[in-house]
Amino acid sequence: MSDTHKYVYSFGDGKAEGKADMKALLGGKGANLAEMSVIGIPVPPGFTITTEVCAAYYENGKKLSEAVRPQVEAAIAQVEKQLGLRLGDPADPLLVSVRSGAALSMPGMMNTILNLGLSDAATEGLAKKTGNVRFAYDGYRRLIDMFGSVVMNVEHEHFEHELAALKKQRGVQLDTELSGDDLKLLVEKYKAVYKKGTGSDFPQDPKDQLWAAIMAVFNSWEGKKAIEYRRIEKITGLKGTAVNVQAMVFGNMGNDSGTGVAFTRDPNTGEDVFYGDYLINAQGEDVVAGIRTPEPISRLDTDMPKVYEQLMGIRQKLESHYKEMQDIEFTVQGGTLYMLQTRTGKRTGSSAVRIAVEMAQKGLIDEKTAIQRVNPDSLNHLLLPGLDPKANAKPVAQGIAASPGAASGKVILSAEAVVKHAEEHPGESIMLVRKETSPEDVAGMHLAKGILTATGGKASHAAVVARGWGKPCVVGCDAMVIDEKAGHIIIAGHTVKVGEYLTINGTTGDVMIGQVPTVDAQMGPDFATLMGWADKVRVLKVRTNADSPKDALKAREFGAEGIGLCRTEHMFFEGQRIVDMRKMILADDEAGRQAALSALEPYQREDFVGLFKAMDGLPVTIRLLDPPLHEFLPHDDAGQNEVAKQLGVPVEKVKLRVTQLHESNPMLGLRGCRLAIKFPEIADMQVRAIIEAAIEVKKAGMSVLPEIMIPLVGTVEELSFLKKRAIIVADACMAKAGAKVEYLIGTMIEVPRAALTADQIAEEAEFFSFGTNDLTQMTFGFSRDDITSFMSSYIDGKILKVDPFQTLDATGVGQLVEMGTRKGREARKAKTGEHLKVGICGEHGGDPESVAFCHKVGMDYVSCSPFRVPIARLAAAQAALADGKTISRDR
Ligand code: ADP
Ligand code: MG
Ligand code: MG
Repeated sequence: MSDTHKYVYSFGDGKAEGKADMKALLGGKGANLAEMSVIGIPVPPGFTITTEVCAAYYENGKKLSEAVRPQVEAAIAQVEKQLGLRLGDPADPLLVSVRSGAALSMPGMMNTILNLGLSDAATEGLAKKTGNVRFAYDGYRRLIDMFGSVVMNVEHEHFEHELAALKKQRGVQLDTELSGDDLKLLVEKYKAVYKKGTGSDFPQDPKDQLWAAIMAVFNSWEGKKAIEYRRIEKITGLKGTAVNVQAMVFGNMGNDSGTGVAFTRDPNTGEDVFYGDYLINAQGEDVVAGIRTPEPISRLDTDMPKVYEQLMGIRQKLESHYKEMQDIEFTVQGGTLYMLQTRTGKRTGSSAVRIAVEMAQKGLIDEKTAIQRVNPDSLNHLLLPGLDPKANAKPVAQGIAASPGAASGKVILSAEAVVKHAEEHPGESIMLVRKETSPEDVAGMHLAKGILTATGGKASHAAVVARGWGKPCVVGCDAMVIDEKAGHIIIAGHTVKVGEYLTINGTTGDVMIGQVPTVDAQMGPDFATLMGWADKVRVLKVRTNADSPKDALKAREFGAEGIGLCRTEHMFFEGQRIVDMRKMILADDEAGRQAALSALEPYQREDFVGLFKAMDGLPVTIRLLDPPLHEFLPHDDAGQNEVAKQLGVPVEKVKLRVTQLHESNPMLGLRGCRLAIKFPEIADMQVRAIIEAAIEVKKAGMSVLPEIMIPLVGTVEELSFLKKRAIIVADACMAKAGAKVEYLIGTMIEVPRAALTADQIAEEAEFFSFGTNDLTQMTFGFSRDDITSFMSSYIDGKILKVDPFQTLDATGVGQLVEMGTRKGREARKAKTGEHLKVGICGEHGGDPESVAFCHKVGMDYVSCSPFRVPIARLAAAQAALADGKTISRDR
């Protein structure tokens, strides 16, 4: 570090050397103190030692560069001159605070030291000058406590213990009830605690205090708390912390003084009202420390009307300057107001929307900025029920947040029992609790309010299905043991019996015992406005994954522009359908299968009629049967017995078929298009149902755009074989009905080979839809149902930044997507002159970062669960505005 380099930036008195956009160098606190000074907001003068000094401190083996000292000395001298006070002056001392402050807020990293500069002599001087012994000694005892605990690591409890003892002795409740003499005595006690804890006397030279405090701030950067916080919040790339040294102002000088914290708008609702708390005759942390109950900020209007009016003016000024909602700290000393901090205020999803929209409507920001202000994921807060924040419920365990929203319900341990309970007690809320779920559980899952599983990750069956329905779900809750026989679960040591209430928060993964009150989804006019603005700028279309007219209608309400994925297997579980499905699976020959399929066909046709009607005028992509057949058969004795009874076959036959269908790697086995190649009659039935439904709906005067999607294709031959058959079936249907419908036949790109040979596949396919769940699974070689056992080690060990099933792996899997899109489009254009429609229908279609990737690749649409449609619309708009640049979002 060279001597001419600038390490220290002063602020105060209407001037500053720094400004708001210098956060990397000055930290957030320092940069905004400088900015406030410049725009004429009253800020006690001080200076900021840069984050570079902190970085150099660590580079030099925890040694402070000598070049820094003279600049700090000069900055102190400047503050002394401005205020006409001197650090350590026994008659009239300058006191300062020493505050940490990194570029990103890291609460709890280091406690601030207030009243630095007090010594025995200076405290006496301050008492004389102010005529307020109580005030002076209160400040001194606070300094000894803070300096002792923060800088010298003396346990804060030892000081607290002395304070409590004295209050007890005097028979008082509040600190403020102690007299000046009491506090004098307390200072002596604190000094003794200090000496006992450190082996030396409390330092009397303020410069010694100051340097020790500055070093303590730098040391706190690598403290355990700070490292842990950065790890959890995934904060990387910061230089270090800055140190702010600032002249003290006193909120504890009497009843015309006080201190407070506020937001320029209500951070919970976004309403344009001043929102905060203050305390009369108190210093700094007292407001948040909970020692005394603070007053609502509106009361300040009665207590100190002049100050209140000034504060309201500053509120306006800050908002029009920063064009953002601010979170502020202030102190009033003897009727004079000082601002001590301002920063962008944290807020809920619904308030983020309201604030962005109202600020744009007032002309403070433009529509584009409003779109960029709202984190798409935070919309969950508006779209789904959440826990009532007033309930303040304590979680007993945490699992993986699999599907957002909160739900309470009576614990039930099997899907069949849920179905039964729902019939017997309609209207009761049920929480389905399982080790994991499988496709045979869907009926019970659908009836439950929420789903909790002990195992599984974000891409497990429970997670994917629950997200599709917008149903709150927590998976991978390993603190839970399920004892179905005993009829209870044990969760983190607590036993919860079947029928007792459990609450989950699928947004955070929290699990709570009992019934915690929830609040409804709260979409309002501002939400619609913001969505309208987003729709104007986005290029990507947004479709939904839906299998029922109800979900399809919900998704349309949320703005879906079509169905990107209808999973037909979900249509084979309810009532008589599963019986016919199982008949089909158990059939000995094609004739038997045909018979069972003929029984299923009317159901399929009705399903598609419903979907087409719901999506009138919008495209509907229907995927032919995809999962391995064993998923439709029960694997336990009881279930198998029941199936045997239902179908009138010996149970041995059921067992035999389950054994025959067993595969070591079902995800790589007989599924997807392979099923249709082995049993073409299944696909024939589905195509017939689709085309006949389309004809029926068209005849009813609606417009239908069916897209038949063949899953798991790896070679063009698979596709051409099935396509040929589908065309024959469709032609026959149309000939029979004497009507025509337009339809497309396309494929999912979810096997790496399909992406690699996309040019060949596109010669046959009329559209592509990237199935990025399977594509991720097969590209990484990660089984999505088994990743929970190691994913956390991968994330903790920084082997992977994020779970690739959650956010599309742009580097690896993304190459296949990009290449597949490009090759497919080129080949299709060359062959037919047509534009190949390309979309994505994996879970990634609702993940904002992945949506941005899809935009970059030039896809036509993304498809996601109904409840994520607005999130995808906003993310698509942000991607369009970012113009290929990375979007950094507030977490
Ligand atoms: P944090 O980052 O934890 O909020 P701060 O540095 O903002 O820590 O300070 C903690 C408390 O001390 C705040 O209430 C703040 O307003 C108060 N404070 C800090 N510096 C001063 C000062 N110079 N005069 C009066 N109060 C101060
Ligand atoms: Mg603060
Ligand atoms: Mg798939």
